Amino acid sequence: MNKRGILVVVSGFSGSGKGTIMKQLLEEHADTYALSISATTRAPRPGETHGKEYFFVSREEFEEMIRQGALIEHAQYVNNYYGTPKDYVYQQLEMGRDVILEIEIQGALKVKKAYPETLLLFVSPPGAEELKHRLVDRGTEDEATIASRLSRAWQEAQGVENYDYFIINDNLEECVQEVHSIIRSEHARVARNHVLIEHIRAELKNFAKGE
Ligand code: 5GP
Repeated sequence: MNKRGILVVVSGFSGSGKGTIMKQLLEEHADTYALSISATTRAPRPGETHGKEYFFVSREEFEEMIRQGALIEHAQYVNNYYGTPKDYVYQQLEMGRDVILEIEIQGALKVKKAYPETLLLFVSPPGAEELKHRLVDRGTEDEATIASRLSRAWQEAQGVENYDYFIINDNLEECVQEVHSIIRSEHARVARNHVLIEHIRAELKNFAKGE
């Protein structure tokens, strides 16, 4: 019986390392997971390419996607739009892959409201000092943007209780394993297995009749 994939939303403060964790998870389990690629109006960072990290679009193009209903959700984050295109996500879930959306908290809550079965994971560095160091060391943003991202992190920290799991990213490999085992366990939840349970029940009923 082909099981539908789980929609998994991963959020975390900018600099939490969630992108690296997800990249590694996908490398280790390419057949199990699919990473959704978002559309954004922010400019590409050095090394980022269109269609890989993001679909980089203009504000006009983004607003057109909203009008056409092509996005599952969208949100503003530090002066830019970010949104999740629908088609790819639906297609991969149908194929039985778990689809990972790496999105900020406003988007995460919208997805959870629209699809209550969504699994919400929040990734955090071990502490705030570490977060600041990671943002500064990354060297891709100017001081003002780093300050906005840190202030946004403070706001996001207020919403963590809406998530299902809180994961500390101290050691990359351990963190990848943790995320993988959480998602595997979710598949075994009774609430996610009603169709299979009904099927087995029906089979058992037939056996019972034959007695
Ligand atoms: P960055 O500019 O660092 O790549 O991303 C900024 C924030 O936007 C991150 O928290 C990231 O998870 C979030 N983000 C990326 N794609 C989407 C999306 O499609 N929707 C929403 N709501 N947030 C997104």
